[in-house]
Amino acid sequence: MVVLARGNKQLSLLEGTSLQRLVKEVTMSFDRTAAFKAAISGNPKIKIEKITDDHGREKPISEYFGCMTFGLSQMREKLPKEAYNSLLRTLEQGKKLPKETADAIALAIKEWAVSKGVTHFCHWFQPMTGSTAEKHDAFITIQHSHHSELKVVERFTGSQLIQGEPDASSFPSGGMRSTFEARGYTAWDPTSPLFIVEDEGGKTLCIPTVFFGYHGQALDNKTPLLRSVESLSDAACEFLKLLGDVDVKKIFCTLGVEQEYFLIDRNFVAQRPDLYMTGRTLLGAISARGQQLEDHYFGSIPSRIKHFMQDAELELYKLGIPIKTRHNEVAPSQFEVAPIFEDVNIATDHNVLTMEVLRRVALKHGLFCLLHEKPFAGVNGSGKHNNWSIANDKGENLLEPGSTPHQNLRFLAVLSVVIKAVHDHADVLRASIATPGNDHRLGANEAPPAIISIFLGSLLEQILNTIEEGKTLKATDAQIIDLGVNKIPNISRDYTDRNRTSPFAFTGNKFEFRAVGSSANSSVPMAVLNAAVSASFKACTAKLKEIMKSKTVRDEAVLEFIRQTVTETKVIRFDGNGYSDEWKAEAKKRGLPILNTTADALTVLKDKKATQFLVDTKVLSAEEIQSRYHINIERYVKTLDLEHDTLLELTLSYVLPALEKQAVAFEKAQRSISLDTLKKIHAERKDEFEIVFAEVLTAFEEFKSKVNISRKNHNEEARMKEIVTTLQPAAEKLRKACDRAEVIVANEFWPLPKYREMLLANLLS
Ligand code: ADP
Ligand code: MG
Repeated sequence: MVVLARGNKQLSLLEGTSLQRLVKEVTMSFDRTAAFKAAISGNPKIKIEKITDDHGREKPISEYFGCMTFGLSQMREKLPKEAYNSLLRTLEQGKKLPKETADAIALAIKEWAVSKGVTHFCHWFQPMTGSTAEKHDAFITIQHSHHSELKVVERFTGSQLIQGEPDASSFPSGGMRSTFEARGYTAWDPTSPLFIVEDEGGKTLCIPTVFFGYHGQALDNKTPLLRSVESLSDAACEFLKLLGDVDVKKIFCTLGVEQEYFLIDRNFVAQRPDLYMTGRTLLGAISARGQQLEDHYFGSIPSRIKHFMQDAELELYKLGIPIKTRHNEVAPSQFEVAPIFEDVNIATDHNVLTMEVLRRVALKHGLFCLLHEKPFAGVNGSGKHNNWSIANDKGENLLEPGSTPHQNLRFLAVLSVVIKAVHDHADVLRASIATPGNDHRLGANEAPPAIISIFLGSLLEQILNTIEEGKTLKATDAQIIDLGVNKIPNISRDYTDRNRTSPFAFTGNKFEFRAVGSSANSSVPMAVLNAAVSASFKACTAKLKEIMKSKTVRDEAVLEFIRQTVTETKVIRFDGNGYSDEWKAEAKKRGLPILNTTADALTVLKDKKATQFLVDTKVLSAEEIQSRYHINIERYVKTLDLEHDTLLELTLSYVLPALEKQAVAFEKAQRSISLDTLKKIHAERKDEFEIVFAEVLTAFEEFKSKVNISRKNHNEEARMKEIVTTLQPAAEKLRKACDRAEVIVANEFWPLPKYREMLLANLLS
């Protein structure tokens, strides 16, 4: 989300460019018709880079994939053997990286980067602002020659690679600063490849880093994620050893992120202060044609958009991001991009980068990429489906049913552990995806509900129920689809059915956490999920050990463990319609946490008992949890304040003047009409118009006075509650009145680009 009012000095490199361009556009004259004409005038002729061989033929992706990155495989190639092995020891055993090794790595990196035309480097990190931050330094240093004249040389040392010290006081710490020093440090994360970002502003080498305070307290989103992976690995290994996998040493978390987004012509955005200030439309009547024809999802991609996608993907491939699928989403002008899954840490970095590349390349194409969860009311919102699984060091997916009885038993045991994790920590999982943007999406009848539950599919449900009843399992033919057509071979069924209404669904060999918002940083929900699963593994290890005391045949003990666990956690499983009112009633009966708004969900972070597992797994300390609670509230209040200010401004300087123009037009028309019947009809229309005009004015005054009262309160917790209970309903009322005005005011008087124009222009270009 692009927020102009953001106070951070260190804006993202990529976002910075987009802001400058937008501000330039905004100062143009406002003209809705001109914006529409520009939008449909088609593809601005953009030169798209093509990577070709000597004969001008396009090279296959594999030949340039990752060419702008420097990770472990490049290091193996470019580093002296000794230095590389020393780095591996650091990674595997957590040993301190010797200075000579660091210097050798830095030298190799510098040589590679300078050969690519890079002049600057930066420590790239993910503070709790939700975006990324970077501070640039040139690769140069001054050398004094013996004639004492100054000479500039390229230099980059091991210590510059490993550690940075940005001014932490500009980043949120959630009150930790009052008790600790304001100093903040960035430290190189060697598990995620370094990468080069290139734009008109030049080329910069980005070093992925963690960001923390003087006493080691996490000031970013990445540190807790890395801690959670470690905790989960330890806990899972212990459990798996009990199952008989005695040689397992390490567990990996895998993540594949499906990213949804909207693309709108930039000319429209420049004329919608709500879009470029808050990332979503605060006003706008629903377009007659929306998504009801269901012709957009998987439909053919408009040529202008395909052009954009190719350009964005080229850049993503160069950054080593394995983009695999692209398609239209449900709403007009909504799309999705998804990579092949990777290690969770790399996948989250890659998702953050993907969002930045989408934004930047969109601007180049005269488009604007909206990553907000609900940019347009009444049309489908955007999510970020987090496909998550765990694998052992042999690369076996632990959530994949196998071909041997042991693998299948292990699969069901690990599945039970994950079910228990979600069952025990549903409230904190809900809190991990609580943002103002996601409030518009969750439970809004087109995205998963705000109630966390698990969908397994009928076959797995059947299997678990059979185990619960203590019956034996029989293999079935249910996995084969016979089409009754001889020419087409029988295909095996993906035996999980789909349920789009579930927030946490099993999809054959992984779980899909679908309730994550499109603009979120995945590391937040993934750290909480990993911590929950880690805590569950720990509890399950103890339980299994206990069962093994009386049941000495291991497989029988494991089956008994599965039986007990799935029975105890049954309330979290739900395979019906998550959008229905019956489910809300049923979930209440089952005692599941129902946390409808961010305000409700965040209070969970104050509950020591609920968050204890984060402390036990060492993913977040009690103090870090409290700081995150405060940061989230502050962000909530700031976001909503910004939306409210923008809504007031839009009403005052766009909607009311349009209504005034319309009033004058009515007067003029009235005077020029002489026919009685016409006069009567006209008077009726004018009456209706005046009712709407009055509605807008009253709702505006009401909302304004409520905002003014609310701003006098300086307690953020109280303000958050007041925003939900008082301000949001008043804002909603004002919006409704303005949207009624939009359809009654003459098209030519309405200054803001309309939904139909913004959403359907891509079809015309
Ligand atoms: P869907 O069926 O939900 O439309 P896909 O089958 O294309 O989507 O997969 C969605 C995402 O799940 C992809 O990013 C894919 O790489 C990822 N995925 C597949 N297997 C795993 C796994 N074992 N762990 C994590 N993610 C996975
Ligand atoms: Mg999916």
